[in-house]
Amino acid sequence: MKDFDQEQLKLLMEEAPEIRRELRRNQFLERQQLQRLQDAAFVKMVRHAYSNVPLYRKKYDAAGVDIHSIRAVQDAHLLPVLEKEELIEGFPEETIAAGYALDELTTAITGGSSGKTVRVAYSAQTMRKRVMTAYRIYDMMMGGYKSHHVQTYVYTGKYPLESLPDGSYQLKHIWTLDPLDEAREKLLHSKPHMLTLYPSRLEDIRRTLSPQDVELLRTNLVVINVKSEMSTQAQRNEWSDFFGVPVLDEYGSEEMAGTVAAQCTHKGYHVWEDIAVVEVVDDSGNPMPDGDTGDLVATCLYNWAMPMIRYRQGDIAALHPVDKLCSCGRSMRMLKSFEGRRNSSFVLPSGRFLSSGYLLDVGYTRLMEYGEALNSWSLVQKDKNTVAFECIPGPGMTDDIRERIRNEVTQFLFNEVTVEVEFVDFLRVTNRGKRNQIISLIS
Ligand SMILES: [Zn+2]
Repeated sequence: MKDFDQEQLKLLMEEAPEIRRELRRNQFLERQQLQRLQDAAFVKMVRHAYSNVPLYRKKYDAAGVDIHSIRAVQDAHLLPVLEKEELIEGFPEETIAAGYALDELTTAITGGSSGKTVRVAYSAQTMRKRVMTAYRIYDMMMGGYKSHHVQTYVYTGKYPLESLPDGSYQLKHIWTLDPLDEAREKLLHSKPHMLTLYPSRLEDIRRTLSPQDVELLRTNLVVINVKSEMSTQAQRNEWSDFFGVPVLDEYGSEEMAGTVAAQCTHKGYHVWEDIAVVEVVDDSGNPMPDGDTGDLVATCLYNWAMPMIRYRQGDIAALHPVDKLCSCGRSMRMLKSFEGRRNSSFVLPSGRFLSSGYLLDVGYTRLMEYGEALNSWSLVQKDKNTVAFECIPGPGMTDDIRERIRNEVTQFLFNEVTVEVEFVDFLRVTNRGKRNQIISLIS
């Protein structure tokens, strides 16, 4: 993503107090007020997209949608779901709104299907708001952000700015693919209050840290924010024990212009309803009852240059009912569970469906006792009947343990598949440096 230039920074500073106030206020609105705000933003975005973006005009006309029948979020089910392939094929002519020129927009690239990538474009205005929404996470997870706080983030790309011109919101960057000893050095040197990274990278880096290193980190560290890959509450609890600070999850995507939901210090997984609409739907795009698991579709309420409406993220989740309250006092509704990507779930020969959330959770709990023998692992479903347990063995690995692991894994896959335990030097990563711990090679 391109860096913020002087003009952008100046505007950001001018707008920051107002946007910050608004983003803070919205979290604690009365439920009814919040709903009204979200309804208005949703209807405005839908009408804008229908009037200005060829993709939506054609799509909604073909589905026979009367655009004036969309009066609130509860009418969303009348609009067909947007698929990743449509974004890939339509970019840019069909997906960019009239009045925006691609070469003036900031673009991001994200993983697509079958090797293709999705490109998403944002206006300068959207980018400024995006930055402020990222700071809101900071504020929530830290239990109050202070201007001297430093965030260190481990990522494949650099954020478009290193701090605000007044010196606040300092960011320190470590490359995801930096050698581990270098990453460790940089991490200790940066003295972060908040550390943000992929869970797989956290797992790697923590293995390089001595008890003294952890002690040193803890002089400043308040919270660790994990994102971009699936992690489970059990994993986060264990990392939290290791570092002595809360480890909280964030969910977002480039398509949604950043953050969609995040955990507060009470572990409530709040959806940012003032900037996004999150629905959980069945295969036909109809909303599932609250609490039930289905496909997560999301609408971004502030990317006017490239609207994203009812976009199927490819993730599996469930929502709490709106009246389920969090002890933090935020009125924003919560995700009940987040079970990871649909393409990293397994389907067993009997047709039984296992989400990556289940596999990670059970795998993690059942294999915890082999900590000394196992550095890290992933599960790869190679075909309907075969699953490979790919692992980097630790010093304690023996033939006996290898066999016991094979049996454990076979059991939690319900004895339906052949399990092979394979020792590897490196685990598979995507070209964006992400590591999926659960991989299905079945298309
Ligand atoms: Zn909360």
